[in-house]
Amino acid sequence: MQFDRLYIGGEWVKPIDGGLRPSTDPSTGRPWGDVAYGGRADVDRAVAAAREAFAGPWRKMAPWERAALLRKFADLYATRVEALAQIESRDNGRAIRESRGDIGLHPQYWQWFASLADKLSGRTIPMDDSVHAFTSRVPVGVVGTITPWNVPLMAATWKLGPALAAGCTVVLKPAEQTPASSLALGEIFQEAGFPAGVVNIVPGDGATAGAHLVAHADVDKIAFTGEGATAKTILKTGADTLKRFSFELGGKAPHIIFADADVEQAVNAATGSAWALCGQSCALGSRVLVESPIYDRVVEAFRERAGRVRVGNPLDPATHMGPQAHAEQLAKTLDYIELGKAAGANLIAGGSRLAPSGMENGYFVEPTVFADVAPGMRIEQEEIFGPVAAIIPFDGEEEAIAIANGTRYGLTAGLWTGDVGRAHRVANRIDAGMVWVNTFRYIRWSTPYGGVKQSGWGRENGIEALDSYLETRTTVIST
Ligand code: NAD
Repeated sequence: MQFDRLYIGGEWVKPIDGGLRPSTDPSTGRPWGDVAYGGRADVDRAVAAAREAFAGPWRKMAPWERAALLRKFADLYATRVEALAQIESRDNGRAIRESRGDIGLHPQYWQWFASLADKLSGRTIPMDDSVHAFTSRVPVGVVGTITPWNVPLMAATWKLGPALAAGCTVVLKPAEQTPASSLALGEIFQEAGFPAGVVNIVPGDGATAGAHLVAHADVDKIAFTGEGATAKTILKTGADTLKRFSFELGGKAPHIIFADADVEQAVNAATGSAWALCGQSCALGSRVLVESPIYDRVVEAFRERAGRVRVGNPLDPATHMGPQAHAEQLAKTLDYIELGKAAGANLIAGGSRLAPSGMENGYFVEPTVFADVAPGMRIEQEEIFGPVAAIIPFDGEEEAIAIANGTRYGLTAGLWTGDVGRAHRVANRIDAGMVWVNTFRYIRWSTPYGGVKQSGWGRENGIEALDSYLETRTTVIST
């Protein structure tokens, strides 16, 4: 796999106003190789190729033909899972066992989106004898997809799958810190036989390539995953063109454990989720709300299990947790740990940078647990994106709901209880796009995913995912 070219118009091309630059292995802090990035002229080229493909072969193709191509892509993707997992873990430091688990599910996501491509239909609308009206679902057009560094292939899959099924064409701009695995997708699209320009892949900086894609008059929609602050900038940059936007943004998920829960299972899920992806996932239960009667037991379980997490080389299958994906994220996590200490939260595990043997310059941090966290503390309110759990005591449903809903986020939430009535009552009142009961982080292609409040606009996955990439056209015909 070569990473020194951009994938535009079905060809591997040298950047015009970008270039090559090193991508860093976060476990060593050293570059592992050079990767191409594009500038504004490269984005222009990619958008022109996507527009041409939209007007030409892709738009004219029958839905079942698009579905067949997507199925072929899914089959090829399945043969590359291990290679893609290795590329992504080297580039962003995620433990290989996690990359294999996540990326191993992607072929099923692609099969799901393929299965939707030829099921799009409208409805007929009663008018009068001489007039016939009906609706059709038509693709939005050229989509700029902008993805984050934590889960590059997952974000690309969740966006490109429905966009292509809907009949859109795409320019994918992955994050500057972890561009490699997204570029690797180009080979699979090429091999599957997608017409030139249907998918274009241009890594690049947010402030140049990203902003240019957002402002571009020939881009009809931006599908973005990343931080809320970036989304606000994107809205302003794109305002002049009134294009469409969908946003998958941050989270600060409450993971509520009631005293009547199966505490062992709840703790397994809560500790696993606190440190997964080294804390770098929007869906994690970074706020653990524990009812008073079981509080000491859960706190002790967190302290004990933090010490059991194997932190180290992400490419070692025995590793549970790799490094933070880049140096700025490491600094951010360490800053938040200091903030937690200064605010008076009780640091019961971790709290320091780690230097595993042979990887002394890597961006490792200990699995960290704060107990006795009070609502309103910054470590309780803000997305840290590091392996830092904040445990908060509560008494009764009302207090749990108030704390759970007390942030600007509303992406995911979890609750554990043995009382089915309570499960319904509490789930119904949580501000979140996805609520898990007696399970956590169970996400599949068929279940809509997305945020309320400042966690996002729109839904990915499920049948709803296609709504973001379709317009409804109403045709009224006089007979
Ligand atoms: P980020 O906002 O810094 O960057 C995301 C992408 O935006 C990158 O490709 C970046 O180059 C680009 N970008 C930056 N500035 C831009 C600009 N001015 N114009 C256009 N593009 C620009 O986010 P990140 O740090 O890469 O990712 C972490 C964030 O993503 C966290 O907040 C996390 O919660 C969120 N996230 C959300 C989901 C979800 O499904 N809701 C999934 C994964 C990550």
